[in-house]
Amino acid sequence: MSEYVLEMKDVYKAFPGVVALNHVQLQLKPGTVHALMGENGAGKSTLMKCMFGIYTMDEGQIYIDGEKVEIHNPSEALEKGIAMVHQELQPIPARTIGENIYLGRYPLKKFLGLFTIVDHDKMYADAKKVLEEVKMDFDPKQKLGELSVSQMQSVEIAKAVSANCRVLILDEPTSSLTQNEVEALFRIVEDLKAKGVAIVYISHKMDEILRISDEVTIMRDGQYIGTWPAKELTTDFIITKMVGRELTNLYPPTDNVPGEVVFEVEDFTSINPRSFRNISFNVRKGEILGVAGLVGAQRTELMEGIFGIRSKSKGVVKFKGKEIDIKQPKDAIDNGIAMLTEDRRGTGIMGVLSVADNISIASLNQYVDHGIVLNHKKIEELVRLIKKR
Ligand code: ADP
Ligand code: MG
Repeated sequence: MSEYVLEMKDVYKAFPGVVALNHVQLQLKPGTVHALMGENGAGKSTLMKCMFGIYTMDEGQIYIDGEKVEIHNPSEALEKGIAMVHQELQPIPARTIGENIYLGRYPLKKFLGLFTIVDHDKMYADAKKVLEEVKMDFDPKQKLGELSVSQMQSVEIAKAVSANCRVLILDEPTSSLTQNEVEALFRIVEDLKAKGVAIVYISHKMDEILRISDEVTIMRDGQYIGTWPAKELTTDFIITKMVGRELTNLYPPTDNVPGEVVFEVEDFTSINPRSFRNISFNVRKGEILGVAGLVGAQRTELMEGIFGIRSKSKGVVKFKGKEIDIKQPKDAIDNGIAMLTEDRRGTGIMGVLSVADNISIASLNQYVDHGIVLNHKKIEELVRLIKKR
């Protein structure tokens, strides 16, 4: 028997124009938390998608209990005891929690001895058990769309746990969780670990990594850098390995001198009494203003309010001292304000449209000839220009 429940060896995967994984390896021991670390774009998610059968490796092998296996798709991965909670959730909000948990693998029963139909009673009873197991007090018949993003994340974790897996991949699971939910997740991870499950944990949060992981594998630009026992590591060492050079100063001094105040928000208050209230701030020319707060602090809601996505009960926005009236996003755009949304897949882009359409959509009126015809040439020029930058 192998010491490892799962091994990936010599994995190579290229996308057009980028080598995402350049002969990478990963060895998972049962009953351990294995942190996978690296900067954005290092190849962590791609490696996990290869393990879970979403991507096909160009080269490399996967071994389970020392035996070579082939994983062609997620259902084969699940059959082999691998479950994954994705970085970008793709839940179905119009369906119930139970249906989302058992999506693609509904329990079935015979009806009148002839037809095979979904066994809803069993599905909801099983879903209830799974939710209880991970200490989540949700009604499995509730619509998923009624939950917050962090609660949906919890359901996704329950779903992975319900698969009775031996390897559980958590790809940045805490990015949208509150502190209490993070603690709940850590208890689930400890439980699974005690049951012998190997957990791959992807996170950027150093304190989390050093707290819950047993081993740490670090990747950089698609390369395997190394694997270390977590208790031998320091934050500085991890960062140095992740970025590939000594970091003398994590936050280098800036020589930027902000100019005069150009943007002012005064007494901004939501029409929703539980959302943002009496918010005032100024932004100077050339200044970057950070807005900090815990999940649920209404940071996103405030910015969406300023951008005209949410309604305010009072408050003013001024640009260069002049009040501007923003009732909808179009008004904000017309006043030279741009916004990158938090949920970029859901509200930032339109996945069915081309890159060119997406880039030009916020400024389409600049590309209209004779008031009605889109000038595609001009749009393509814009895309080329952006590419060059
Ligand atoms: P990480 O999860 O470590 O942030 P990823 O695995 O998402 O990194 O990405 C690794 C590299 O592969 C990046 O350069 C990314 O742009 C590229 N990449 C990932 N998925 C795709 C894809 N579906 N098509 C093209 N390039 C991709
Ligand atoms: Mg990723």
